Amino acid sequence: MTGRFAPSPTGRMHLGNVYAALLSWLFAKSQGSAWLLRIEDLDPERSSEHYADQILRDLEWLGLTWDGDVLYQSRRKAIYEYYYDRLTRLELVYPCFCTRADIMATQAPHQTDNRIVYAGTCRALTPADVASMMTRRKPAWRMIMPDRQSTYTDLIYGEQRANLRQQCGDIIIRRADGAFAYQLAVTIDDALCGIQQVVRGRDLLLSAHQQMAIATTLGLPTQHYAHLPLLINEHGQRLSKRDESLHLGVLKEHYTPQQIIGMIAYKSHITPYMTPMTAQEVLNIFDYRNLEPKDIVISA
Ligand code: GLU
Repeated sequence: MTGRFAPSPTGRMHLGNVYAALLSWLFAKSQGSAWLLRIEDLDPERSSEHYADQILRDLEWLGLTWDGDVLYQSRRKAIYEYYYDRLTRLELVYPCFCTRADIMATQAPHQTDNRIVYAGTCRALTPADVASMMTRRKPAWRMIMPDRQSTYTDLIYGEQRANLRQQCGDIIIRRADGAFAYQLAVTIDDALCGIQQVVRGRDLLLSAHQQMAIATTLGLPTQHYAHLPLLINEHGQRLSKRDESLHLGVLKEHYTPQQIIGMIAYKSHITPYMTPMTAQEVLNIFDYRNLEPKDIVISA
């Protein structure tokens, strides 16, 4: 059950990232498997080498050692291009000229999570429409999602179902600036690196359907999933890089790695009381069945 941690180097790691890193490490190591590290630095505007290096140092400080070489998505563009071409040849890719405002105007945000599902507007463009719009702006490129039900069983959140066309919509696989999009790159990397189990935040529960759909279309293997509850603040908001007090730079000044790991282990019901622990000590008692599908409140 080879696992991985796939952070985006867009800022300093915060407690939520540490939690995802620790849990994915625990899942892999408790099954005697490798744990790979992939830096998701596809977006040249938001990613930086400085943050990528810092993630590596922070993981070392926490005692979470990865296996093999670190994979950088920014160095794998030729591989994404190859699979992107295959989708194009299958006639599953079309240019989309919609702006965010266009999309908002045609679709109401989803009631539960404010998600907007693309209605497929540009799928209906004729070659003549496309040619004339191309002269005005660069399009993004979408993959046609099949109109079918997708299901998988998540180890923590149980049975997951979605209609790919209605709940996910045609997804962007290449942006207007030429960068390959997250969904395409993740699917290819997880498959080619032999990842068998993906452990990450529950905000990506729906992405799993999209990634499975891309993999199936390309004849690539799919993974098992364990999505994690999110760490939230007392207002119910997800912890993010904006919560300055919980980023590792600040936490390191006040706590040892053992204190941080012990706190996460306690908050996620792995240990019955809060006590400093190394990752290895948590591993000795880790049982994923103790995890609950319930967000975890952290007060700053
Ligand atoms: N790079 C993504 C993030 O940092 C995670 C993607 C994944 O685990 O599939 O949120």
